[in-house]
Order: sequence, then structure tokens, then C-alpha cells
Amino acid sequence: MAACFRLRSCRAPRLASAPSGRSLRPRAGGLAPAPRPALGPAQPRGYAGIPAGVSAALLRTDGFVGGRWLPAAAAFPVHDPASGAELGRVADCGVPEARAAVRAAYEAFCTWKEVSAKERSSLLRKWYDLMMQNKDDLAKIITAESGKPLKEAQGEILYSAFFLEWFSEEARRIYGDIIYPPAKDRRALVLKQPLGVAAVITPWNFPSAMITRKVGAALAAGCTVVVKPAEDTPFSALALAELANQAGIPPGVYNVVPCSQQKAKEVGEVLCTDPLVSKISFTGSTATGKILLHHAANSVKRVSMELGGHAPFIVFDSANMDQAVAGAMASKFRNSGQTCVCSNRFLVQKGIHDSFVKKFAEAIKTNLHVGNGFEEKTTQGPLINKKAVEKVEKHVSDAVSKGATVVTGGKRHQLGHNFFEPTLLSNVSRDMLCSQEETFGPLAPVIKFNTEEEAVAIANATDVGLAGYFYSQDPAQIWRVAEKLEVGMVGVNEGLISSVECPFGGVKQSGLGREGSKYGIDEYLEVKYVCFGGL
Ligand code: ADP
Repeated sequence: MAACFRLRSCRAPRLASAPSGRSLRPRAGGLAPAPRPALGPAQPRGYAGIPAGVSAALLRTDGFVGGRWLPAAAAFPVHDPASGAELGRVADCGVPEARAAVRAAYEAFCTWKEVSAKERSSLLRKWYDLMMQNKDDLAKIITAESGKPLKEAQGEILYSAFFLEWFSEEARRIYGDIIYPPAKDRRALVLKQPLGVAAVITPWNFPSAMITRKVGAALAAGCTVVVKPAEDTPFSALALAELANQAGIPPGVYNVVPCSQQKAKEVGEVLCTDPLVSKISFTGSTATGKILLHHAANSVKRVSMELGGHAPFIVFDSANMDQAVAGAMASKFRNSGQTCVCSNRFLVQKGIHDSFVKKFAEAIKTNLHVGNGFEEKTTQGPLINKKAVEKVEKHVSDAVSKGATVVTGGKRHQLGHNFFEPTLLSNVSRDMLCSQEETFGPLAPVIKFNTEEEAVAIANATDVGLAGYFYSQDPAQIWRVAEKLEVGMVGVNEGLISSVECPFGGVKQSGLGREGSKYGIDEYLEVKYVCFGGL
């Protein structure tokens, strides 16, 4: 605590100020007006920029540090994944900005941890209310930067806002314990105290929900945060900063340092090694998670890691076919297959295999429409970038070269850019890349199996374990398989399982800790034992 007081008396870093609700003219950044829709078959039609009518106050391009908008010396471009057009230029924060943000967060922590739980709760609730009031604009920002269909973006905003609502409620329910130790003259108290500053590094696939899931828990617990959003999707994090400011969240409690891919490494290193940071919460690839764990080791920081998955989707002979196909569609093709809980491999028992493949293919052809996320009928937007498309392409060509059959799709979509056809492969074997690693795209590979033991063995033969799904009408089998799957989350006859009330997280190399639910807040709390003697 001594350090806290010393720092509190430090001069705050000099920052440009931006009153809430008023749009700043960014020095280095800026948002492009929506260009005219491009014509021709190789171009997605419609919007290729931030749509007109979105509240200017939400279209932020500077960093947000200590309650002020912070321009950086340089800016980096953010592109519309559907068209490749530049959406805008955002402050490219580097080491100095990251350090300033950590310091601002630390100074704010000194007072935020003293704010009553009721007050923290009501501020989070105000933030939630503002998200709900601005939900349509926020969804448009998500579609613009991530490419996901507008309906999915609207769903994400609700999911995201509900985390703030949930944690505003949980903020008032942080309880300790009283323990009676063997010594009769003693009582033991267990206190739960906020950890301090949390560094929050988030991915592009749920640019808003991944922030509120972590930040909601952190703020409810009494921690403060510095968020480094993904380089492809910084706008959501900055729009959330505007709303946090409007909600009256005190300066320094929520800070955002956007940066380019080139600077992610150095900014990440500052956030994960600075002695004033107590906690790292990361969602992203297992490879990056391991780098951050190395950073965390030196100063023994608390960590929450939500890393890659390789979700099995098992269909047993007893399954209800229509339910299984509906579940497969939902769990595979949400966000064009770009979520860490998306089914990544389909294991189908031999008795039901052929009819499942046929119905799954029909559903893909009938229900999925590839296009710009702003178009009404689109269900499948573009993938996030070129690298993502190349990975799907590589998994398909590897599988086909080893004997897989393309049932539908199989190539880049005629819309070009980052669009890929929803793809179903059969005759898939365990030696193919798509059976071994996460594709993170619209590829559904089907492996045929004979027995339950075989299915469970294939499902568990991986060093990650986030989500797993299976369809069965046999109660004994449901218990057995649910308990045997080596994953953190199981969907039984259900393909969409995320909810703010339930614990999200994985086992093995899929991560550490849980987010959301009543457990999520513990990730930001320290347990302190106080022994009362001489009674
Ligand atoms: P993906 O490959 O899906 O983009 P990443 O794990 O690379 O997943 O990215 C998730 C988040 O991690 C993004 O915010 C990204 O900028 C950040 N990131 C990537 N590399 C590093 C790094 N070396 N240090 C800190 N953050 C990083």
C-alpha cells in the first residue's frame, strides 16, 4: 500500500483531454467516410466503411488513458475485412502510452478499491444502460471492423452488455468466510480483496464481449484495467471507453491502448511485465498465451488464459437427427467458424453417418448465405484477414490430398477478398491437419467412428480442451460421455452454450481460469486470511 500512496502523489501524465460525448478531431488517426459501394461480381455489395448515422461520439480513434483521449505519434490503418477498404486510422500506442496507461490505472486503483461495492455496482449498471441505449450503433461498429453479420453483431452487443449487468449484480455479492480453527481462543476471517491493475489483451472475434466479460469482473472486484484490443478491431474497445466515460466510471479505471500488429509485442510486454500490473487476462491463440505466461512468470502475476480450442461434435446413433443438424449448423458456422468454441471436427457414428452428412450438406446449402455483413440475408461474413483464409484453404487442400471428399464448398468464395465457401468434408481421417488443429473458419470435417470408446478417444486425443458437444438420446451414455470429455464446457444436445451466468473456460492448453458466472469475479480477487487470537 505504501507504493500506492507514493504513486498517488505522482504527477499524472500529460494527456489531451476530451469531454465525454463530444467528438474529437484525432491528430494521428481518423475514420474514413463510407465510400460508394463497389460494383461487379468480385466485390461485396453495399457498405465499405463506418455506416452513416452512427453516433460520432462513439467513433473514437485515440487511445483512452486516465479518462482522457490520448493521440499517439503514429497511426495504423484498420481495414474492412469484407472489401479491404480502409475504415480508419487509429492511434498506434507504443511503450510510453502503455506505461502511462498502467500508471493511470494504478493511481485509479488506489481510490477505486475504496469505492463501495454498491457504488461500483451502480456505475457498472449505468455503463450497461448506455450500451443498451447505443446497441444498434455498437453492433454496426462491430460489423464494420470484424465483418460478422449485423444480426450476429447485435447478438454480441447484448451478450456483451449482459456481462456488465451480471457483474454489476455480482459486485455486491463478494463474500468472505469465518472459520473456527482448532485453537479455542481463535477465529479466522477470510477476506477477498481486489488484486490491483489488470492487463486485458483481447481478440478480434468478439471485440466487445471479450472486453466486458473481463472488465466487468475486474471492475466489480475493485480492480482497474488497461485494455489492449486486437489490431483488427480497436473501434469497439474505444466506443466502450466513450460509454464508460459517459457512465461516470472514474478516470483511469478503464484505459485502452490500441496498437498495430507491429507494436503488439512491445506493448504486450510492458503490460505483462510492469510491476504495477498484478493480473493478466488474455483471450487469443495458445501460441501468444504461452508468450504472455513467460512474461508473467518473472513477477509471478496472476493469469487468466482463454486460448484455442479444437471442439469435437459427436453424433451418436441414438441422436435426434434434426436436433444434431441444427446444433452442428449453429456451433460450426457462427461468425463463419471463427470462435474458439466452434465445432472443429465432427465425429459421427457409422449407423447415422451417411444420413447426417446428407442433411448437414443440405442445411449448409439452403441456410447459409455468404456476403457483406450489412446485407440483410447474409449469414456468413468474410473471414477476418488473408491469413485466416489461407489457413482454411490449407486445411482443405491437405485433407483432399490425403483422401477427404468435398461434399460442399471447398474453395474461396467468388466475392473474393476474405470470403470462403462454407465447406463440408467427409472421409476425413485423423492424420489430416483439420483433425489435428483448430481451423478457425467455415470448414466442417466429418470423421466416421464405430464405438463410444473410439469417439471419446478421438475427442480427447488433443492437447487442448475448451468446448465439446455431443448428441445422444441415451441417458447413461450422456452421463458417461459428459464426464469423460476432457474439456471445460460440454453441450449435450445443444450447440450454443455460452451465457453470462455460466463459467467459460478450458482445460489442458485451452487455458487457465474461468470467465463470466459467479466464478469469474474470483479471478480478480485475492484471498486474505486474518487470524484473530486471544479471544
Ligand atoms: P490471432 O492469431 O487469432 O490474431 P493472437 O493470439 O495473435 O490471435 O491475438 C490475440 C491478441 O493478442 C491480439 O490483441 C494481439 O494483438 C495480441 N498479441 C499478439 N501477439 C502478442 C504478443 N507477442 N504480445 C502481446 N500481445 C500479443
